[in-house]
Amino acid sequence: MKHIKTQNQYCPAGCGYRTDSVTGAFGDYSPDEGDFSICMNCYAILRFGKKWKLQLSSLEESEEFGVKEDLQKAIAAAKQVRVQRALGFEESN
Ligand SMILES: [Zn+2]
Repeated sequence: MKHIKTQNQYCPAGCGYRTDSVTGAFGDYSPDEGDFSICMNCYAILRFGKKWKLQLSSLEESEEFGVKEDLQKAIAAAKQVRVQRALGFEESN
């Protein structure tokens, strides 16, 4: 997974989660402007603006771009990571 350092920013859904990096969910792909993402805290659907500035999006919007299923998989994976962390498992890279 490719990890990119971004500006410090809060989740635009207002959950209070702060992030300063993004990770491509699929292989070595680097997220770019217009790509979708999710909040790792509240699982809100987000999109990248300029310089990876996060903006609020929706599953409906992701459907227009044909990535709804991918996002739903990413949300399921993110929830899985949280469960593993809560149980004390290390992230597997
Ligand atoms: Zn959030």
